[in-house]
Amino acid sequence: MNEQNIFIVRCGEVALKGMNKPYFERMLVDRIRSNVKGLGNVDVKRQEGLIFVRADKDVDTDILVRQIAKVFGVASISPAVEAPSNLDDIGEEAVKYMMNLIETKGVKTFKVEAKRADKNFPVKSPDIGRIIGAKVLIGCKVLKVDVHNPDVLLYVDVRADRSYIYQDKIAGFGGLPLGTNGKGMVLLSGGIDSPVAAWMMAKRGMVIEAVHFHSYPYTSQRAQEKVEDLARIVASYCGNFKMHVVNLLPIQEQIVQNCPEEETTILVRRFMMRIAERIAENNKAMMLITGENLGQVASQTAEALVVTDNVVKMPVMRPLIAMDKIDIMDKAQEIGTFETSIQPYEDCCTVFLPKHPTTKPKLARIEESESKLDVEGLVAAAVAAEEIVQIRQK
Ligand code: ATP
Ligand code: MG
Repeated sequence: MNEQNIFIVRCGEVALKGMNKPYFERMLVDRIRSNVKGLGNVDVKRQEGLIFVRADKDVDTDILVRQIAKVFGVASISPAVEAPSNLDDIGEEAVKYMMNLIETKGVKTFKVEAKRADKNFPVKSPDIGRIIGAKVLIGCKVLKVDVHNPDVLLYVDVRADRSYIYQDKIAGFGGLPLGTNGKGMVLLSGGIDSPVAAWMMAKRGMVIEAVHFHSYPYTSQRAQEKVEDLARIVASYCGNFKMHVVNLLPIQEQIVQNCPEEETTILVRRFMMRIAERIAENNKAMMLITGENLGQVASQTAEALVVTDNVVKMPVMRPLIAMDKIDIMDKAQEIGTFETSIQPYEDCCTVFLPKHPTTKPKLARIEESESKLDVEGLVAAAVAAEEIVQIRQK
Protein backbone atom coordinates (compact mmCIF):
# COMPACT_ATOMS: atom_id res chain seq x y z
CA MET A 1 0.00 0.00 0.00
CA ASN A 2 1.37 3.40 -0.96
CA GLU A 3 1.96 5.65 2.02
CA GLN A 4 0.81 8.76 0.23
CA ASN A 5 -1.87 9.50 -2.33
CA ILE A 6 -0.24 10.14 -5.67
CA PHE A 7 -1.54 12.19 -8.59
CA ILE A 8 0.00 12.40 -12.02
CA VAL A 9 -0.57 15.80 -13.58
CA ARG A 10 -0.17 16.29 -17.31
CA CYS A 11 0.51 19.66 -18.85
CA GLY A 12 -1.28 20.49 -22.07
CA GLU A 13 0.22 23.11 -24.32
CA VAL A 14 3.09 23.69 -21.93
CA ALA A 15 4.54 20.51 -23.35
CA LEU A 16 4.80 22.16 -26.79
CA LYS A 17 6.89 25.05 -25.60
CA GLY A 18 10.28 23.81 -26.86
CA MET A 19 13.16 25.83 -25.41
CA ASN A 20 10.88 27.62 -22.98
CA LYS A 21 9.37 24.42 -21.62
CA PRO A 22 11.30 24.40 -18.31
CA TYR A 23 10.15 27.97 -17.61
CA PHE A 24 6.50 27.11 -18.25
CA GLU A 25 6.77 23.93 -16.18
CA ARG A 26 8.31 25.80 -13.27
CA MET A 27 5.50 28.34 -13.41
CA LEU A 28 2.97 25.53 -13.50
CA VAL A 29 4.49 23.78 -10.49
CA ASP A 30 4.49 27.10 -8.59
CA ARG A 31 0.83 27.63 -9.40
CA ILE A 32 -0.15 24.14 -8.33
CA ARG A 33 1.78 24.59 -5.09
CA SER A 34 0.02 27.83 -4.30
CA ASN A 35 -3.42 26.38 -5.13
CA VAL A 36 -2.96 23.43 -2.76
CA LYS A 37 -1.44 25.43 0.05
CA GLY A 38 -3.30 24.96 3.30
CA LEU A 39 -4.68 21.52 2.43
CA GLY A 40 -2.00 19.67 4.43
CA ASN A 41 1.30 18.04 3.57
CA VAL A 42 1.42 18.06 -0.24
CA ASP A 43 4.55 17.76 -2.35
CA VAL A 44 4.58 18.94 -5.99
CA LYS A 45 7.50 17.93 -8.20
CA ARG A 46 8.50 17.81 -11.85
CA GLN A 47 9.71 14.41 -12.88
CA GLU A 48 10.30 12.86 -16.30
CA GLY A 49 8.08 15.25 -18.23
CA LEU A 50 5.17 14.94 -15.81
CA ILE A 51 4.23 16.64 -12.58
CA PHE A 52 3.76 14.44 -9.54
CA VAL A 53 1.68 15.51 -6.58
CA ARG A 54 2.08 13.43 -3.44
CA ALA A 55 -0.22 14.10 -0.51
CA ASP A 56 -0.41 12.62 2.97
CA LYS A 57 -3.39 10.34 3.48
CA ASP A 58 -5.20 12.84 5.68
CA VAL A 59 -5.44 15.38 2.84
CA ASP A 60 -8.94 15.47 1.30
CA THR A 61 -8.36 14.11 -2.19
CA ASP A 62 -11.56 15.53 -3.70
CA ILE A 63 -10.61 19.05 -2.70
CA LEU A 64 -7.02 18.44 -3.73
CA VAL A 65 -8.00 17.31 -7.23
CA ARG A 66 -10.40 20.21 -7.60
CA GLN A 67 -7.68 22.67 -6.65
CA ILE A 68 -5.18 21.13 -9.07
CA ALA A 69 -7.77 21.07 -11.88
CA LYS A 70 -8.30 24.80 -11.43
CA VAL A 71 -4.69 25.58 -12.30
CA PHE A 72 -4.40 26.83 -15.87
CA GLY A 73 -1.95 24.73 -17.86
CA VAL A 74 -3.14 21.46 -16.33
CA ALA A 75 -4.54 19.18 -19.05
CA SER A 76 -5.47 16.19 -16.90
CA ILE A 77 -4.96 14.53 -13.54
CA SER A 78 -4.85 10.84 -12.67
CA PRO A 79 -4.97 9.47 -9.15
CA ALA A 80 -2.29 6.74 -9.30
CA VAL A 81 -0.47 4.13 -7.26
CA GLU A 82 3.22 3.46 -7.64
CA ALA A 83 5.41 0.40 -7.54
CA PRO A 84 9.11 -0.31 -8.03
CA SER A 85 9.77 -0.87 -11.75
CA ASN A 86 9.74 -4.65 -11.95
CA LEU A 87 6.89 -6.83 -13.16
CA ASP A 88 6.34 -8.68 -9.86
CA ASP A 89 5.87 -5.51 -7.83
CA ILE A 90 3.80 -3.85 -10.55
CA GLY A 91 1.63 -6.99 -10.76
CA GLU A 92 1.14 -7.03 -7.00
CA GLU A 93 0.06 -3.38 -6.91
CA ALA A 94 -2.20 -3.91 -9.95
CA VAL A 95 -3.98 -6.77 -8.16
CA LYS A 96 -4.49 -4.66 -5.03
CA TYR A 97 -5.72 -1.79 -7.19
CA MET A 98 -8.27 -3.97 -8.99
CA MET A 99 -9.40 -5.73 -5.79
CA ASN A 100 -10.28 -2.36 -4.38
CA LEU A 101 -12.31 -1.51 -7.50
CA ILE A 102 -14.13 -4.85 -7.36
CA GLU A 103 -15.11 -4.18 -3.75
CA THR A 104 -16.05 -0.53 -4.08
CA LYS A 105 -17.40 -0.34 -7.63
CA GLY A 106 -18.40 -3.89 -8.52
CA VAL A 107 -16.01 -3.92 -11.47
CA LYS A 108 -16.20 -7.10 -13.57
CA THR A 109 -14.04 -6.55 -16.65
CA PHE A 110 -10.77 -4.82 -17.43
CA LYS A 111 -8.10 -4.28 -20.01
CA VAL A 112 -4.46 -3.30 -19.44
CA GLU A 113 -2.89 -0.52 -21.47
CA ALA A 114 0.84 -0.58 -20.81
CA LYS A 115 3.42 2.01 -21.81
CA ARG A 116 7.16 1.84 -21.40
CA ALA A 117 8.50 5.38 -20.92
CA ASP A 118 11.86 3.83 -20.02
CA LYS A 119 13.04 2.23 -23.25
CA ASN A 120 15.75 0.36 -21.32
CA PHE A 121 13.11 -1.68 -19.55
CA PRO A 122 13.69 -5.21 -20.87
CA VAL A 123 10.06 -6.03 -21.71
CA LYS A 124 8.18 -4.29 -24.53
CA SER A 125 4.87 -2.48 -23.90
CA PRO A 126 2.46 -5.10 -25.39
CA ASP A 127 4.19 -7.83 -23.40
CA ILE A 128 4.02 -5.80 -20.19
CA GLY A 129 0.28 -5.51 -20.83
CA ARG A 130 -0.10 -9.26 -21.29
CA ILE A 131 1.99 -10.18 -18.25
CA ILE A 132 0.27 -7.73 -15.88
CA GLY A 133 -3.13 -8.74 -17.30
CA ALA A 134 -2.37 -12.38 -16.51
CA LYS A 135 -1.29 -11.52 -12.97
CA VAL A 136 -4.48 -9.58 -12.38
CA LEU A 137 -6.59 -12.48 -13.68
CA ILE A 138 -4.87 -14.87 -11.29
CA GLY A 139 -5.09 -12.43 -8.35
CA CYS A 140 -8.68 -11.37 -8.93
CA LYS A 141 -10.62 -14.48 -9.84
CA VAL A 142 -13.91 -12.67 -10.55
CA LEU A 143 -12.44 -10.46 -13.27
CA LYS A 144 -12.51 -11.09 -17.01
CA VAL A 145 -10.66 -9.35 -19.79
CA ASP A 146 -12.77 -7.32 -22.20
CA VAL A 147 -10.68 -5.66 -24.88
CA HIS A 148 -13.59 -3.80 -26.49
CA ASN A 149 -15.64 -2.34 -23.66
CA PRO A 150 -13.92 -2.91 -20.31
CA ASP A 151 -15.30 -1.54 -17.04
CA VAL A 152 -11.76 -0.43 -16.23
CA LEU A 153 -8.99 0.54 -18.58
CA LEU A 154 -5.95 -0.01 -16.40
CA TYR A 155 -2.94 2.07 -17.42
CA VAL A 156 0.51 0.85 -16.50
CA ASP A 157 3.21 3.45 -17.02
CA VAL A 158 6.66 1.93 -16.60
CA ARG A 159 9.39 4.45 -15.79
CA ALA A 160 13.06 4.17 -14.89
CA ASP A 161 12.75 3.83 -11.15
CA ARG A 162 9.08 3.74 -10.24
CA SER A 163 6.07 2.69 -12.28
CA TYR A 164 2.54 3.99 -12.07
CA ILE A 165 -0.86 2.36 -12.23
CA TYR A 166 -3.96 4.42 -12.77
CA GLN A 167 -7.35 4.38 -14.29
CA ASP A 168 -9.18 7.55 -15.17
CA LYS A 169 -8.02 10.94 -16.26
CA ILE A 170 -9.77 13.91 -14.74
CA ALA A 171 -9.80 16.77 -17.23
CA GLY A 172 -8.27 20.12 -16.36
CA PHE A 173 -8.93 23.29 -18.34
CA GLY A 174 -5.64 23.33 -20.27
CA GLY A 175 -4.33 26.77 -21.16
CA LEU A 176 -1.08 28.28 -19.92
CA PRO A 177 0.21 28.94 -16.41
CA LEU A 178 -0.81 32.22 -14.95
CA GLY A 179 1.88 34.86 -15.11
CA THR A 180 3.31 33.77 -18.44
CA ASN A 181 1.42 36.42 -20.44
CA GLY A 182 1.45 39.88 -18.91
CA LYS A 183 -1.31 41.64 -17.04
CA GLY A 184 -4.75 42.70 -18.25
CA MET A 185 -7.29 45.09 -16.72
CA VAL A 186 -10.76 43.60 -16.99
CA LEU A 187 -13.87 45.79 -16.92
CA LEU A 188 -15.87 43.66 -14.56
CA SER A 189 -19.62 44.13 -14.31
CA GLY A 190 -22.03 41.96 -12.39
CA GLY A 191 -23.24 40.31 -15.59
CA ILE A 192 -22.66 36.92 -17.14
CA ASP A 193 -20.12 37.94 -19.73
CA SER A 194 -17.26 39.84 -18.16
CA PRO A 195 -16.31 37.19 -15.54
CA VAL A 196 -16.12 34.65 -18.36
CA ALA A 197 -13.97 37.05 -20.40
CA ALA A 198 -11.60 37.50 -17.44
CA TRP A 199 -11.42 33.75 -16.94
CA MET A 200 -10.62 33.13 -20.61
CA MET A 201 -7.75 35.59 -20.68
CA ALA A 202 -6.39 34.26 -17.38
CA LYS A 203 -6.53 30.81 -18.91
CA ARG A 204 -4.03 32.00 -21.51
CA GLY A 205 -1.62 32.95 -18.74
CA MET A 206 -2.63 36.57 -18.24
CA VAL A 207 -2.62 38.02 -14.73
CA ILE A 208 -5.90 39.81 -14.04
CA GLU A 209 -6.78 43.02 -12.30
CA ALA A 210 -10.28 44.53 -12.41
CA VAL A 211 -12.16 47.81 -12.64
CA HIS A 212 -15.78 47.97 -11.55
CA PHE A 213 -18.01 50.99 -12.11
CA HIS A 214 -21.03 51.79 -9.98
CA SER A 215 -23.51 54.66 -9.77
CA TYR A 216 -24.06 54.75 -6.03
CA PRO A 217 -26.67 55.52 -4.69
CA TYR A 218 -28.55 54.58 -7.86
CA THR A 219 -26.81 51.23 -7.67
CA SER A 220 -26.82 49.56 -4.26
CA GLN A 221 -24.10 48.37 -1.92
CA ARG A 222 -25.50 44.89 -2.45
CA ALA A 223 -24.87 45.19 -6.20
CA GLN A 224 -21.20 45.83 -5.48
CA GLU A 225 -21.05 42.89 -3.09
CA LYS A 226 -22.37 40.70 -5.87
CA VAL A 227 -19.50 41.82 -8.11
CA GLU A 228 -17.05 41.08 -5.30
CA ASP A 229 -18.56 37.59 -5.00
CA LEU A 230 -18.05 37.09 -8.73
CA ALA A 231 -14.52 38.41 -8.53
CA ARG A 232 -13.74 35.92 -5.75
CA ILE A 233 -14.90 33.04 -7.95
CA VAL A 234 -12.65 34.29 -10.77
CA ALA A 235 -9.82 34.61 -8.22
CA SER A 236 -10.20 30.95 -7.28
CA TYR A 237 -8.68 30.26 -10.71
CA CYS A 238 -6.30 33.15 -11.11
CA GLY A 239 -5.27 34.06 -7.58
CA ASN A 240 -5.88 37.17 -5.51
CA PHE A 241 -6.19 40.47 -7.34
CA LYS A 242 -7.02 44.12 -6.89
CA MET A 243 -10.40 45.49 -7.92
CA HIS A 244 -10.57 49.22 -8.59
CA VAL A 245 -14.02 50.53 -7.79
CA VAL A 246 -15.02 53.78 -9.50
CA ASN A 247 -18.15 55.89 -9.11
CA LEU A 248 -19.41 56.83 -12.54
CA LEU A 249 -22.37 58.88 -11.36
CA PRO A 250 -20.82 62.37 -11.68
CA ILE A 251 -19.91 61.56 -15.29
CA GLN A 252 -23.31 60.09 -16.08
CA GLU A 253 -24.99 63.20 -14.70
CA GLN A 254 -22.86 65.45 -16.89
CA ILE A 255 -23.69 63.36 -19.95
CA VAL A 256 -27.40 63.35 -19.23
CA GLN A 257 -27.44 67.11 -18.72
CA ASN A 258 -25.33 68.03 -21.75
CA CYS A 259 -25.60 65.40 -24.47
CA PRO A 260 -28.33 63.85 -26.66
CA GLU A 261 -30.23 61.14 -24.82
CA GLU A 262 -29.75 58.42 -27.45
CA GLU A 263 -25.96 58.79 -27.15
CA THR A 264 -25.86 58.25 -23.38
CA THR A 265 -24.81 54.61 -23.48
CA ILE A 266 -22.01 55.01 -25.99
CA LEU A 267 -20.72 58.12 -24.23
CA VAL A 268 -20.70 56.31 -20.88
CA ARG A 269 -18.87 53.40 -22.46
CA ARG A 270 -16.18 55.69 -23.85
CA PHE A 271 -15.64 57.11 -20.36
CA MET A 272 -15.41 53.63 -18.92
CA MET A 273 -12.71 52.78 -21.43
CA ARG A 274 -10.74 55.96 -20.77
CA ILE A 275 -10.84 55.44 -17.02
CA ALA A 276 -9.97 51.76 -17.30
CA GLU A 277 -7.01 52.60 -19.54
CA ARG A 278 -5.74 55.21 -17.08
CA ILE A 279 -6.02 52.74 -14.19
CA ALA A 280 -4.34 50.05 -16.32
CA GLU A 281 -1.41 52.38 -17.03
CA ASN A 282 -1.10 53.23 -13.35
CA ASN A 283 -0.98 49.54 -12.49
CA LYS A 284 1.25 48.23 -15.29
CA ALA A 285 -1.49 46.35 -17.12
CA MET A 286 -0.91 46.26 -20.85
CA MET A 287 -4.37 45.47 -22.19
CA LEU A 288 -8.02 46.01 -21.40
CA ILE A 289 -10.45 43.10 -21.31
CA THR A 290 -14.21 43.34 -21.74
CA GLY A 291 -17.08 40.88 -22.04
CA GLU A 292 -18.38 42.56 -25.18
CA ASN A 293 -19.97 40.39 -27.79
CA LEU A 294 -20.77 41.39 -31.34
CA GLY A 295 -24.38 42.45 -31.76
CA GLN A 296 -25.53 41.49 -28.25
CA VAL A 297 -26.87 44.93 -27.33
CA ALA A 298 -26.99 48.42 -28.86
CA SER A 299 -23.56 49.32 -27.50
CA GLN A 300 -22.01 46.24 -29.08
CA THR A 301 -22.86 46.69 -32.74
CA ALA A 302 -19.83 46.82 -35.03
CA GLU A 303 -20.22 50.61 -35.33
CA ALA A 304 -20.52 51.07 -31.58
CA LEU A 305 -17.45 48.93 -30.90
CA VAL A 306 -15.40 51.00 -33.35
CA VAL A 307 -16.47 54.23 -31.65
CA THR A 308 -15.78 52.75 -28.21
CA ASP A 309 -12.37 51.47 -29.24
CA ASN A 310 -11.36 54.77 -30.76
CA VAL A 311 -10.98 56.41 -27.39
CA VAL A 312 -8.13 54.23 -26.07
CA LYS A 313 -4.67 53.37 -27.34
CA MET A 314 -4.34 50.17 -25.41
CA PRO A 315 -5.39 46.95 -27.15
CA VAL A 316 -8.85 45.85 -26.02
CA MET A 317 -9.27 42.09 -25.69
CA ARG A 318 -12.80 40.85 -26.23
CA PRO A 319 -12.49 37.09 -25.93
CA LEU A 320 -16.27 36.55 -26.22
CA ILE A 321 -16.67 38.65 -29.35
CA ALA A 322 -17.83 35.84 -31.66
CA MET A 323 -19.46 33.48 -29.17
CA ASP A 324 -23.18 32.84 -28.97
CA LYS A 325 -24.85 33.83 -25.71
CA ILE A 326 -25.85 30.25 -25.02
CA ASP A 327 -22.21 29.14 -25.20
CA ILE A 328 -21.13 31.99 -22.91
CA MET A 329 -23.80 30.89 -20.44
CA ASP A 330 -22.57 27.29 -20.61
CA LYS A 331 -19.05 28.48 -19.90
CA ALA A 332 -20.30 30.55 -16.96
CA GLN A 333 -21.99 27.42 -15.59
CA GLU A 334 -18.85 25.39 -16.06
CA ILE A 335 -16.60 27.84 -14.20
CA GLY A 336 -19.17 28.49 -11.48
CA THR A 337 -20.02 32.17 -12.02
CA PHE A 338 -23.48 31.78 -13.58
CA GLU A 339 -25.61 31.50 -10.44
CA THR A 340 -24.05 34.64 -8.97
CA SER A 341 -24.25 36.55 -12.27
CA ILE A 342 -27.99 36.06 -12.62
CA GLN A 343 -28.82 37.51 -9.23
CA PRO A 344 -30.99 40.51 -10.03
CA TYR A 345 -29.04 43.59 -9.00
CA GLU A 346 -28.87 46.80 -10.94
CA ASP A 347 -25.79 47.78 -12.97
CA CYS A 348 -24.57 51.30 -13.62
CA CYS A 349 -25.26 50.74 -17.34
CA THR A 350 -28.97 50.40 -16.62
CA VAL A 351 -29.10 53.74 -14.80
CA PHE A 352 -30.05 56.53 -17.26
CA LEU A 353 -30.66 53.95 -19.97
CA PRO A 354 -31.91 55.80 -23.09
CA LYS A 355 -35.22 54.65 -24.60
CA HIS A 356 -33.77 54.40 -28.09
CA PRO A 357 -29.99 54.08 -27.90
CA THR A 358 -28.16 54.79 -31.12
CA THR A 359 -26.95 51.56 -32.70
CA LYS A 360 -24.88 53.15 -35.46
CA PRO A 361 -23.03 55.99 -33.75
CA LYS A 362 -20.83 58.26 -35.87
CA LEU A 363 -17.47 59.12 -34.34
CA ALA A 364 -17.60 62.79 -35.37
CA ARG A 365 -21.03 63.25 -33.77
CA ILE A 366 -19.97 61.57 -30.56
CA GLU A 367 -16.82 63.65 -30.37
CA GLU A 368 -18.89 66.76 -30.87
CA SER A 369 -21.14 65.80 -27.97
CA GLU A 370 -18.13 65.14 -25.80
CA SER A 371 -16.72 68.56 -26.61
CA LYS A 372 -19.38 69.95 -24.28
CA LEU A 373 -17.81 68.06 -21.39
CA ASP A 374 -14.59 68.48 -19.47
CA VAL A 375 -13.48 64.99 -20.47
CA GLU A 376 -10.00 65.11 -18.96
CA GLY A 377 -11.22 66.68 -15.72
CA LEU A 378 -13.97 64.09 -15.30
CA VAL A 379 -11.64 61.17 -16.01
CA ALA A 380 -8.95 62.47 -13.65
CA ALA A 381 -11.48 63.06 -10.86
CA ALA A 382 -12.96 59.58 -11.28
CA VAL A 383 -9.54 57.93 -11.18
CA ALA A 384 -8.44 60.01 -8.19
CA ALA A 385 -11.53 58.90 -6.26
CA GLU A 386 -11.14 55.17 -6.98
CA GLU A 387 -11.45 52.76 -4.08
CA ILE A 388 -9.50 49.54 -4.01
CA VAL A 389 -10.95 46.23 -2.88
CA GLN A 390 -8.60 43.30 -2.38
CA ILE A 391 -10.18 40.19 -3.88
CA ARG A 392 -9.10 36.98 -2.19
CA GLN A 393 -9.77 33.61 -3.72
CA LYS A 394 -12.60 31.55 -2.30
P1 ATP B 1 -21.94 41.60 -18.82
O1 ATP B 1 -22.70 40.34 -18.75
O2 ATP B 1 -20.50 41.39 -18.73
O3 ATP B 1 -22.44 42.64 -17.86
P2 ATP B 1 -23.48 42.84 -20.91
O4 ATP B 1 -23.96 42.02 -21.99
O5 ATP B 1 -24.40 43.22 -19.82
O6 ATP B 1 -22.16 42.17 -20.29
P3 ATP B 1 -22.78 45.62 -21.24
O7 ATP B 1 -23.50 45.98 -20.00
O8 ATP B 1 -23.03 46.39 -22.47
O9 ATP B 1 -22.91 44.11 -21.65
O10 ATP B 1 -21.25 45.69 -20.96
C1 ATP B 1 -20.30 45.28 -21.87
C2 ATP B 1 -18.99 45.15 -21.14
O11 ATP B 1 -18.65 46.39 -20.54
C3 ATP B 1 -19.04 44.17 -20.00
O12 ATP B 1 -18.80 42.85 -20.42
C4 ATP B 1 -17.93 44.69 -19.12
O13 ATP B 1 -16.66 44.28 -19.61
C5 ATP B 1 -18.07 46.19 -19.28
N1 ATP B 1 -18.95 46.72 -18.23
C6 ATP B 1 -20.28 46.93 -18.27
N2 ATP B 1 -20.73 47.41 -17.10
C7 ATP B 1 -19.66 47.51 -16.30
C8 ATP B 1 -19.45 47.93 -14.94
N3 ATP B 1 -20.47 48.32 -14.17
N4 ATP B 1 -18.21 47.92 -14.45
C9 ATP B 1 -17.17 47.49 -15.20
N5 ATP B 1 -17.30 47.08 -16.46
C10 ATP B 1 -18.52 47.08 -17.01
MG1 MG C 1 -23.44 44.36 -17.99
